[in-house]
Amino acid sequence: MRITPLDPAFVAAIRAGGPDANGQPPERATSPGAGTPCRNCLHDISEGDEMLILAARPFPAPQPYAETGPVFLHAEACTAWNAPGLPPVMAVSPDYLIKAYSADHRILYGTGAVVPSGALGAEIEERLEREDVAFVDIRSARNNCFLARAVAG
Ligand SMILES: [Zn+2]
Repeated sequence: MRITPLDPAFVAAIRAGGPDANGQPPERATSPGAGTPCRNCLHDISEGDEMLILAARPFPAPQPYAETGPVFLHAEACTAWNAPGLPPVMAVSPDYLIKAYSADHRILYGTGAVVPSGALGAEIEERLEREDVAFVDIRSARNNCFLARAVAG
C-alpha cells in the first residue's frame, strides 16, 4: 500500500495563485496548529505558519462521484509525502472514513466505512486486494474532508 497526496500539479498551480476546484483563489490563513493536515506533505501545519484553505476535487474530471471539499496546504513549498505506510497524521483521530473506488473513479458500494485508526491500514489493505478496487480514499470521519488516497504497491 502506498499513500498518495493531492496531485502535485494541482498543488503547484494553487501555490502559484491558481483557482481551486470551485474556481476561486485559495484563502490564506494562519494555522492554529493541530488538526490542519497539509494534503501535500501529510503533516499538520505548525501553529503560526501560513496556510491555504481551498476546495479540492481529487478526481481527474467532474462527474457524479467526484466529490469536492475543503483542504489545507502549507502556503510555502513543502515536500510531498512519499514513504511507506500511513503518515503519522492518520493516527491522530480516533477513526477515519474510507471508501474504495473503481478504475473509472466511482464509489464501490459496500466498501465505505468509518474505521478505528488502529485498524486503518488493515481495512485499506483488505479493500485494495479486491480486483475491482483501483484505490481507497481516506477522509475525516467527522468533516468528510479528503485526506489522501491509498493505492496498491
Ligand atoms: Zn505541507
